[in-house]
Amino acid sequence: MKELIVTKFGGSSLSDSKQFKKVKDIMDANENRRYIIPSAPGRRYEDDHKVTDLLYMCYQLATHKLNIDEVFNIVKDRYIEISKGLELDLDMENILEEIKGNIINDGTRDYVASRGEYLNGIILANYLDFEFIDAKDVIFFDDMGIFNLIETRKKLKEKLEEVQYGVIPGFYGSKENGEIITFTRGGSDVTGSIVSNVADAKLYENWTDVSGFLIADPSIVPESKTIHSITYRELRELSYMGAPVLHEEAIFPVKKTEIPINIRNTNRPEDSGTIIVNEDTSVKAGTITGIAGKKDFIVITVEKTRMTLEKDFLRKLISVFESNDISIEHMPSSIDSISIVVSAGEINNKLAKIKEEIRIYTKPDRIVVSSNMALIAVVGKGMIRSKGISGKIFTALAEKAINVRMITQGSSELSIIIGIENEDFENAIEAIYRAFN
Ligand code: ASP
Repeated sequence: MKELIVTKFGGSSLSDSKQFKKVKDIMDANENRRYIIPSAPGRRYEDDHKVTDLLYMCYQLATHKLNIDEVFNIVKDRYIEISKGLELDLDMENILEEIKGNIINDGTRDYVASRGEYLNGIILANYLDFEFIDAKDVIFFDDMGIFNLIETRKKLKEKLEEVQYGVIPGFYGSKENGEIITFTRGGSDVTGSIVSNVADAKLYENWTDVSGFLIADPSIVPESKTIHSITYRELRELSYMGAPVLHEEAIFPVKKTEIPINIRNTNRPEDSGTIIVNEDTSVKAGTITGIAGKKDFIVITVEKTRMTLEKDFLRKLISVFESNDISIEHMPSSIDSISIVVSAGEINNKLAKIKEEIRIYTKPDRIVVSSNMALIAVVGKGMIRSKGISGKIFTALAEKAINVRMITQGSSELSIIIGIENEDFENAIEAIYRAFN
């Protein structure tokens, strides 16, 4: 079992027949690639539609008893092109007609959305000569729609023991009553991760249209290098700060069993991509792994002399944010002041109310609100116990005349978070990248 590789292909890797041929070449190149998880066909070019989006549209139209022909025909044409281009012996017209009938006759929203993956699964199984395993028979959710690992493990394991080479469509499964239900958008990543876990795979390959994660956002640093290896924890820090990565829930099933995830590029299979591991022992001290950030944070600073003597001060302050349903991002403090950093989008029009409640509950000397702050996270296990990293970061920022408004570093030393003006955001990311590359 231990050589087994689970492969997941994203929508752009399966967007037309040309892409399917690349997928076959990749599958044929290694016989250990035994289970394949497809997404639905994605975009072929920038303004193109994803099949899943079109299916959601069909559902909307059908619920309003409107004609779905125009939108459904776009979906149909996509699949006909694929099956014709691959010269498959499949009666796609008939399969599509049946699905269309189900959409019109009260197919649920999740059922309709899931058909994108289902159809790609049928096509791939035929094309690769793999067995088709319908996700509804092996991926289970409870009545509340929560993924059920115990039931899934039982049924999926049984099935995988019977099937040497199989296709399992991503994104959906079923409830106990048989009703189809999907994960949230991008959920094929999660299916791939679950199958990897249950199959006890040696590796989970996630094939997409980029050769792995980049150290910095390429729209800011066009020449950014690829991250070769990253730990799950570093990845979490980066994705939390906005770096586009996998579906958030895709990490957990493989993390438990320490299966590495390899992000690969279907259009450049010669690139080794990024490998995500649990523990990385080959870290070079003094290096960083990645830089990510977000704009538009608000800082609410509460000042009160001798606040540390009031044992309930912090609790009262935090409870104001809790009762207003606002997540706190960071809380840097000094002796007589504490700052609460929250995202501007979240605080919206509640600011006046929050200030008032802080005043009532904590009786501060002063509350100062400043906006337009961007946060940048510099992440890397190579920073741990390594001297001179922050020196390098802050020198790079100073040389660009960028003022640092806030600094926080967790005691894990895995990341340094820096608060700067929104308008300095791009320059700061570029300066930090250059300081290390
Ligand atoms: N097709 C689904 C979506 O567009 C799921 C996926 O691609 O992973 O969200």
